[in-house]
Amino acid sequence: MAGDLHALPNSNSVGASKDSSKKAKEKRKKKKKRGGSKKKMTVEQTLAFKSVSEWVSQDQSSFVTAASCVVDDFGVQKSLGRGGEKLVFELHSHSKCSDGFLSPSKLVERAHGNGVKVLALTDHDTMYGISEALDAARRFGMKIIPGVEVSTIFSPRGDSESDEPVHVLAYYSSCGPTGCEKLENFLANIRDGRYIRAKNMIEKLNKLKLSLTWEQVARIAGKGVAPGRVHVARAMVEAGHVVNLKEAFSRYLFDGGPAYSTGSEPLAEEAVKVICETGGVAVLAHPWALKNPVAIIRRLKEAGLHGIEVFRSDGRLSVYSDLADTYGLLKIGGSDYHGRGGHGESELGSVNLPVLVLHEFLKVARPIWHSAIRDILEKCAEDPSESNLARIMKFARIPSLKGGFSLNSNKDVIDRCLSLWLTNEERNSAEFEAISLKLSQISFNQGGSTLL
Ligand SMILES: [Zn+2]
Ligand SMILES: [Zn+2]
Repeated sequence: MAGDLHALPNSNSVGASKDSSKKAKEKRKKKKKRGGSKKKMTVEQTLAFKSVSEWVSQDQSSFVTAASCVVDDFGVQKSLGRGGEKLVFELHSHSKCSDGFLSPSKLVERAHGNGVKVLALTDHDTMYGISEALDAARRFGMKIIPGVEVSTIFSPRGDSESDEPVHVLAYYSSCGPTGCEKLENFLANIRDGRYIRAKNMIEKLNKLKLSLTWEQVARIAGKGVAPGRVHVARAMVEAGHVVNLKEAFSRYLFDGGPAYSTGSEPLAEEAVKVICETGGVAVLAHPWALKNPVAIIRRLKEAGLHGIEVFRSDGRLSVYSDLADTYGLLKIGGSDYHGRGGHGESELGSVNLPVLVLHEFLKVARPIWHSAIRDILEKCAEDPSESNLARIMKFARIPSLKGGFSLNSNKDVIDRCLSLWLTNEERNSAEFEAISLKLSQISFNQGGSTLL
């Protein structure tokens, strides 16, 4: 969330919390009742595990075998320790590129330390950190899902009184969005609105006799980062107006609060459509923070929404699970990690997603990503400009020069990209072979490093 602290109450940190021992006892009791914590996977779970792990390791040499994993009664995977691998997906995280506290590299490093295999970086209204995250992830053998959390407004009656902020997560293929400019313009417009919004909030605070300057907020946000509420809140703490971020939000910055302001967020339906048109999977973030979840879910489903966040870090399914079933939506979840380090923050990788859930997610996402990759490559074959090839490379980040791996021809470049993005089977399909052939015959004006 945009530093929106109403995400906090439901979270349960992986780190030590006061009541953790009590909870652990309760958990043990429950496990006893359920008859043990470890079970062999069902056939369905084994197949799902195999399929997900193949996708996770498609561009890596290491391979995870289904035999090395067991699941508990809820289908949540349990690591077997040495030699056993657990498929931990973290599908909601923020870096310094929006309102997180860690750089994308540090975030990836921390995720790796927590056993995360697949990390979606979902900064607010920007994909600026993706390249750095990809570079870092390669060092750790992790996979990055390029993502973004889009700030939008739901307007049930078209008047500002009933409006409420809605966050929509977008997940893209490793190749990134198709129609890159369209998405970038869309996001840039929201980011511009954030500057105006921050200035409005400062003005409102000043009217409340709390002195705060734009410079203070801008310094905290950092160079080139569109300011969010949390940056304003941090400036308020620094200036001594409030004791902590929570107070800044609960007294002044909450939705509709005395210093709250909206920016130029698009309608939620519009954002979902743009995500779908640019080859993304659209997921409603933290529905528990919404005033009108049912109306919003219904409206967004019509616009093309694919899923809802329902899994929480305390291991419970939120009540929105039933709504997801009603509307035929995917059920996923993530920690919404910002790196604030405060008590109660959910840790990266702390939301356990059952293997069947990961399988369902990929079952929906992969065909979408597959056709996005095909679109991007076809466009490049039709218009083989250097800028189009550079676009393909944007998220590929081929380690040619640094790693001593040299790419001698277009074919090498294309083959390397396809091996990163597709499974062998997908890569060897007639359509991709044709595109690959077409691309390899085109003479790009390449000068080695200019491609990269
Ligand atoms: Zn978030
Ligand atoms: Zn959010």
